[in-house]
Amino acid sequence: MSQLELNSDLDENFEERITYFADVILPIPLPGTYTYRIPQNLEAHVGLGRRVVVQFGKKKILTGIVKRVHQNVPKVYEAKYILDSLDHAPVINSYQLEFFTWLAQYYMCTVGEVLNAAMPSGLKLTSESLIQLNPEALDNKEEYSEKELVILDALKSSDKLSFDQVSDLLGIKMIHPVLKSLLQKESILLFEQIKDKFKPKTVKTIQLADQFLEDDQAMQLLFEQLEKKPKQQAILLKYLSLTRIDEGEKRDNVILKSELTASDLSVSSLKTLVKNQIFKENEKIISRLDDVDVDLQEDPRLSPEQVESMEGILSAFEQKKPVLLHGVTGSGKTEIYIDLIRQVLDNEGQILYLLPEIALTTQIVSRLHKVIGSELGVYHSKYSDNERVEIWNGVNNGKINLVAGVRSSVFLPFDNLSLIIVDEEHESSFKQYEPAPRYHARDAAIWLANLHQANVLMGTATPSVESYQNALDEKYQLVELPQRFGEGKLPEFELANILTSRKSKRMKGDFTPELLDGIKNALEKKEQVILFQNRRGYSPYLICHDCNHVPRCQSCDVSLTYHMGNNVLICHYCGHKESVPAICEACGSTAIRTVGFGTEKLEEDLKILFPEAHVQRMDQDTTRSKYSYQHIIDRFERGETDILVGTQMLSKGLDFDNVSLVGVFDYDRIVHFPDFRSHERAFQLITQVSGRAGRKDDQGKVILQTGEPDEPLLYKIKTGDYKSFFQSEILERQNFQYPPFYRLIKVILKHKEKNILQQASKQYASRLIGELGRQRVLGPQQPVISRIRNLYIEEIYIKVEKKKINISKVKELVYRLGLEVKQLKDYKTLRLYFDVDPV
Ligand code: ADP
Ligand code: ZN
Ligand code: ZN
Repeated sequence: MSQLELNSDLDENFEERITYFADVILPIPLPGTYTYRIPQNLEAHVGLGRRVVVQFGKKKILTGIVKRVHQNVPKVYEAKYILDSLDHAPVINSYQLEFFTWLAQYYMCTVGEVLNAAMPSGLKLTSESLIQLNPEALDNKEEYSEKELVILDALKSSDKLSFDQVSDLLGIKMIHPVLKSLLQKESILLFEQIKDKFKPKTVKTIQLADQFLEDDQAMQLLFEQLEKKPKQQAILLKYLSLTRIDEGEKRDNVILKSELTASDLSVSSLKTLVKNQIFKENEKIISRLDDVDVDLQEDPRLSPEQVESMEGILSAFEQKKPVLLHGVTGSGKTEIYIDLIRQVLDNEGQILYLLPEIALTTQIVSRLHKVIGSELGVYHSKYSDNERVEIWNGVNNGKINLVAGVRSSVFLPFDNLSLIIVDEEHESSFKQYEPAPRYHARDAAIWLANLHQANVLMGTATPSVESYQNALDEKYQLVELPQRFGEGKLPEFELANILTSRKSKRMKGDFTPELLDGIKNALEKKEQVILFQNRRGYSPYLICHDCNHVPRCQSCDVSLTYHMGNNVLICHYCGHKESVPAICEACGSTAIRTVGFGTEKLEEDLKILFPEAHVQRMDQDTTRSKYSYQHIIDRFERGETDILVGTQMLSKGLDFDNVSLVGVFDYDRIVHFPDFRSHERAFQLITQVSGRAGRKDDQGKVILQTGEPDEPLLYKIKTGDYKSFFQSEILERQNFQYPPFYRLIKVILKHKEKNILQQASKQYASRLIGELGRQRVLGPQQPVISRIRNLYIEEIYIKVEKKKINISKVKELVYRLGLEVKQLKDYKTLRLYFDVDPV
């Protein structure tokens, strides 16, 4: 008798059996957890962090995660039974549960939404439950209703049915009673498609049958037998040479099938050999994670400056204080990270190394491999879901102790985190925009570290204003590395005045003579050039020269972006595509021109201006596939590209040896972008891009084109004076009541009807003003792009001072008022989104 059966026997002897309940998190955008009764037969399987199947509402069957098991009978409603359990071990741990709950509260979304973002879809919650016949069903002992028979019949011909299919089949919506009855009769089984979503990767292997290995005579016979079958014999010989069995070395006698089939040996003869049981063919599960064979390298000795920084970092860690490492580009921050990583791994702790997507290159990954070997998990959005499940599992079972990953790696199932490194902490791509949770991975990491009692190290050459202020307030420990490592010097800056060149007609396209000279010089010396074109608000579009008409998207309030490569117009908000019109749709003129220039235009111009040079473009268009970004960088590293033209992508985490010139286009637009963070962004972006110039021994050069060479921020960028930038910036923030002194919550409202949206937004804003006061509520206002995918958009900003205000209370209030407005008669289909600490 099994343990389980024993238990249930025992139970019957009790007067009163204890009933257990489970609080379940469901993947729905409603707050809170739901309590279900645990049926006796599932008691052993229902536990914290495991998935269960439950009925929600009248019809929905959902998969949820158990947050808590207890004995408190819910007072307000009668708890339904849990229908099934999916796991024999937790899929998420208690740290994660607590972390996800915090994220949901802080970022004003539901735990279900966090779960949805957190779990790779191979492990995901889904409402897609299916039924199948129970293969162990006892035949014909049950009485079936007509409806039940219809379902059973259908299941005999198709092996599974979704709930929607059942509903169609019966022509009714309320299918649950029927299914429940079938479940109780044990005639059908409920299962989740997700159960088999994750597929391990396998390879085919070949090995010689044991008898030949053990017995020399048998081997002898085999050779004789194959004498007249040269193709099969060739395979045997190849196999023996690969395994070196005949030389008495006996490597493993298992080889990959591909090792045999790669050469021109006959595949069908191999099949015959397997059929005749001379060879055995098997399948072996292998890891998808790149199998790296690297020669481990000695760590470099830290310089005296680095040692001093390290001491500062370690002493802050002793007090459990997060550290902000402010070190100029090339100062050796990464070497410090690696040193720390090594120390933690020696003590068997887990490390999360967070990087912005674009900085997570093979450069950094191979640098890590070289020092720590293959114990590294890389978590990247371009990875397949299966690869992500593998990393998830690797962290879960303790095989992976170091993860280098993008923002979503904060969700991984760590249970023993010792250190979190946030590289390029200022990067706005750590913040998620869409969908919820709209979290900031840096801020979330600090909370996560707290939960694990782990240390946090944030590094950057250009700290965010928030973090630097936190350091001044002594919430973080500031550690500085003001010099480049070794003899390295920061680049020299030259400003090229667009206006004077334009007046004297010396511009060639968008190039000043200074920049053209610089490029020419560099190319002559066989040095490489990087040209930076800001992406933001800069896409080429078409305009009619006769009537000024600009083609726009039908469902969004934006003009269509012109893509020169395939000559189409694309909406960057909804993906709508159309071909370039031959004539203006407004006036019929053929005088259609492109306006604005992007990287594409620069690339075209360069090919004409420098026909000999190899020009490569790096932007969203050229880096869509998994490895394209990497290939572009590899080619550049190998010196096959002379000029690399790109967007923000080329500002991060790249360490090139031979770049002597960085050219910057259109600084003016970056600095005047209408946003309170535009100065901060400009400082960070230009400093980072410039950091790519002259990294090794030679000083590099930056040529920046501008119409306003006297613009005050430029001077600070030129001299690399972060502190002076910060001082003027922080004053502005204080005067205009912006973060870090005030907190922002952005409320986004969307509706199909413009009028309804405007009324609802006004209603909401006035309720907010009623509770929070006029000065704390801004809007409603239309965002720059006021319609996307046929939904109109309004925004309300809530701005509250950081000191003396209970922000959780404010969030609750904002949330509650939002729900109240949504409940009003006309506003049921209003969509509401919250963005806490928007960037
Ligand atoms: P950062 O991360 O601050 O941009 P890196 O760590 O990439 O700087 O260092 C810049 C360059 O200096 C790299 O090529 C790196 O290998 C080298 N470097 C840094 N510290 C050392 C050291 N202690 N010994 C040898 N080389 C170092
Ligand atoms: Zn569109
Ligand atoms: Zn026209």
